[in-house]
Amino acid sequence: MYQIAHTSADVVIVGTGVAGLYAALNIPSDQSVIMVTKKLAKESDSYLAQGGICVLKNQEDYESYFEDTMKAGHYKNNPESVKQMILSSQDIIEDLVSYGVDFERENGAFVYTREAAHSEARILFHKDITGKEITEKLLERVREKENIRIFENTVMVDILEKNNACHGIVVLKDKRVQIDEHGILTSPMAIFARHTILASGGVGGLFRDSTNFDHLTADALAIAIRHQIKLKDIDYIQIHPTTFYSTKPGRRFLISESVRGEGATLLNRQNERFVDELLPRDQLTNKIVEQMQKDQMPYVWLNMSNIPQEDITGHFPNIYAYCLEEGYDVTKESIPVVPAQHYFMGGIEVTRQSKTSLEQLYAVGETSCNGVHGANRLASNSLLESMVFAKLAAHDIADATVETHALDSLQALDQDEFRFSNEVIEVLYGDIGYEEFEENNKKMILDEIERMGKEREE
Ligand SMILES: Cc1cc2nc3c(=O)[nH]c(=O)nc-3n(C[C@H](O)[C@H](O)[C@H](O)COP(=O)(O)OP(=O)(O)OC[C@H]3O[C@@H](n4cnc5c(N)ncnc54)[C@H](O)[C@@H]3O)c2cc1C
Repeated sequence: MYQIAHTSADVVIVGTGVAGLYAALNIPSDQSVIMVTKKLAKESDSYLAQGGICVLKNQEDYESYFEDTMKAGHYKNNPESVKQMILSSQDIIEDLVSYGVDFERENGAFVYTREAAHSEARILFHKDITGKEITEKLLERVREKENIRIFENTVMVDILEKNNACHGIVVLKDKRVQIDEHGILTSPMAIFARHTILASGGVGGLFRDSTNFDHLTADALAIAIRHQIKLKDIDYIQIHPTTFYSTKPGRRFLISESVRGEGATLLNRQNERFVDELLPRDQLTNKIVEQMQKDQMPYVWLNMSNIPQEDITGHFPNIYAYCLEEGYDVTKESIPVVPAQHYFMGGIEVTRQSKTSLEQLYAVGETSCNGVHGANRLASNSLLESMVFAKLAAHDIADATVETHALDSLQALDQDEFRFSNEVIEVLYGDIGYEEFEENNKKMILDEIERMGKEREE
């Protein structure tokens, strides 16, 4: 037994990307919410989304949108989840507009763009910074709510599991054990909650080349593995075909699919087109890798000369500026591009209400797997999917009645009672540093991904 700081809320949400923020906004205002995030609230992959967000334009597009999603996912998708996502899409867009999100319009009507593997233009966008526009507005609305508090630089290291239910999380502030000037332990801290929502994003931090923030190290998966919470399809990892080629360390810069949707072409070493640029992501990635091998080059070229200059600077100002900084004027010359890890279709298995296999624990967004994406995600479906199922989680929580307040009075956490593993105890006591703990977690997750991949092959 040892003493640990603690606080409580009705709901604790891990992650301040679109999934976490939108879930928080949908929790009734009479319930208290604590959101924790590993870095600053703005440091999430949601901010990085460029291309846009899909929507069901009109009823006539339903069959086609459904089929595009299923086909891209190799028909491994859960059709009920896909249907749910598509039919909820207009409500989500309405909500976003009411929160102040500004989508591109012409004469007051939405403008739709198209991305790879979509047979229709059905994607709403805000220049090439759609994710920033959406996430910033959600964050503004969250900060206005009195029932929601955000703890930044606060990393979840475990959940509080007791009697087969989740009663909150344990966090470290600034990734270390801390005692304040009065000698009181302030980190680690237990956050007791009736319901916990994991919205902690994808797995990019496990890979050297990824478009994701590198602090997204799939921490929720490590916790799920330790607590035997069900996982699904964790070997389904998407590689994005076109990221800006660089030998510098750090995140790979994405060259959005909508650039190809608007007419950009892929060229080999001889400046010849070698592929249909609008193939689904996984197929296009394979073709690019084959071409790189044939050309004996670490990249292929992407050329935007088919796109009018004013469309490049108007629709893709962020990509234009980035490439210029890297020494390429995309209105005049090709840029080198290479595939990199981008998205995680698998995750913690959830029901349509985003419930995990552990009572009182939900998972939403990229951390979760409700089967929408199957084996391969259709472009611009993930912001939408994150929000549709975050709202369902929040509504399920609003309807639930769970009596766990008695736990608030606990000051001492018994490691056996809460099923902390030795690794977690070590990092909570400060016996090992957080970085070492994270490295061990990464290895454990990669091993599990490999194991599940092999199991599928057999
Ligand atoms: C470059 C790029 C472009 C993209 N473009 C598009 C697009 O155009 N359209 C589209 O639909 N999708 C796009 N995506 C995918 C989409 O952005 C993500 O799938 C989606 O935003 C995931 O949202 P999320 O809320 O689940 O996770 P994130 O937005 O990644 O948020 C995860 C949060 O969890 C926190 N966190 C993680 N671990 C912990 C921990 N242990 N403790 C506390 N906090 C933790 C993080 O700090 C962060 O706040 C793109 C992704 C990238 C990387």
